[in-house]
Amino acid sequence: MSVEVWWSSLASADRDLLRLLDAGERARVESLERSADRGRFLISAAMLRVAVAAHLEIAPVEVLVDRTCAECGGPHGRPRIVSHGTPAPSVSVSHSGLLAVVALAPRGPVGVDVQRLDDLDDPVDGRAWATREALFKAGTPAPGDVAVSELRPPLPGYVAVVVVPGGQDGAPRITHWPRPIARLSASGGGR
Ligand SMILES: [Zn+2]
Repeated sequence: MSVEVWWSSLASADRDLLRLLDAGERARVESLERSADRGRFLISAAMLRVAVAAHLEIAPVEVLVDRTCAECGGPHGRPRIVSHGTPAPSVSVSHSGLLAVVALAPRGPVGVDVQRLDDLDDPVDGRAWATREALFKAGTPAPGDVAVSELRPPLPGYVAVVVVPGGQDGAPRITHWPRPIARLSASGGGR
């Protein structure tokens, strides 16, 4: 089974998605002061659940996400999927600017990073920056254990890198959730 990469944009952040989250995630959304931060967390948390649910063939609300921080024990750590009996996939989540991305592999390590180039001090360094972040999220694996590849973000002005276990067959399977961004703008953004 190949690695999956799911993309979404802030344009798809919708209050209805709160229903997919657990109580801790909903509290996190409410606790964020800036609306863009709320939207990015909402879309990322909802997309993570939808992606894992599709992989495990369960409902998004049934996905158990542990967000315990490794440093302080608070509920704001990198998400980890808790097993339901079937082996839980390894996941990684990133968001920047208008984009959110989830990477999912049947087993780890996996790390993904998307970066809006305008947010970097030196945009020329974008790919190197995203690579460092993705490797860090994958747990800083030994170079021979992983494959590092650049992703093509669905909007211009971004760079993204995914780190997956070595020996995976084929390119990651890409999903645009809930629909391709091009189709979203072609329809005038209406629903
Ligand atoms: Zn912490």
